[in-house]
Amino acid sequence: MSILYNSTLKLFIITLFAAISFSCLRNHPDFSKVNVSHSSVDSNLQEEYQHIRKEDQVNFYCNKEANDLTELVVRETFQKWGEVTHFHFTYKGRNRAGLRKDGKNTVSFLLKWPECLPINKVAWCHNWYDPEGNIIESDIIFNMSITVFTTLRTNKPNAYYIEGVLSHEIGHMLGLPHIQSENSLMKPKSDKQESYFKGQIDNETLTEYNRMYNSKE
Ligand SMILES: [Zn+2]
Repeated sequence: MSILYNSTLKLFIITLFAAISFSCLRNHPDFSKVNVSHSSVDSNLQEEYQHIRKEDQVNFYCNKEANDLTELVVRETFQKWGEVTHFHFTYKGRNRAGLRKDGKNTVSFLLKWPECLPINKVAWCHNWYDPEGNIIESDIIFNMSITVFTTLRTNKPNAYYIEGVLSHEIGHMLGLPHIQSENSLMKPKSDKQESYFKGQIDNETLTEYNRMYNSKE
């Protein structure tokens, strides 16, 4: 009798735990705050887009499968942002690929795109926030299932430049919104040949960065 009671109780607890875990997965709280890349953000909404990073130090990682040239280009692109902003970007090595809140800002090149995201996106930046809305972690993913990527060193035809696409996504990682200007790195879309000016950080983008970060005090 007591054995039967114990095992029934155990089963009940296991079922309850499984149900709780499942509902947590389905209602991932951070998903309502996905920072949408490559979709238009109305410039009127910019005031709502004031998520910033409080920490000047930003460590970042690259997925394990990416080749050495890709890793080098990722590091160089962060360095470029470091030269024109107050942020200190430090490369910490390789990490597991994908969107995962693990305390590590990770850039991944994915052959398999997450099913929960629109398939037609070339890249995506997902930010996580603290309760005050400050950005505490970001993962950037590249969609290798729909396009090819290249670098300024290899210039593969009909491909997106990692330098440019990543530079745009780093902008989102710092909280920058889209800028509706043909000359801005933060414009919503860029074709392959242009690929966000191959990573050049323009004045309109820097003006937005200064507006967001110099007025945070
Ligand atoms: Zn974007």
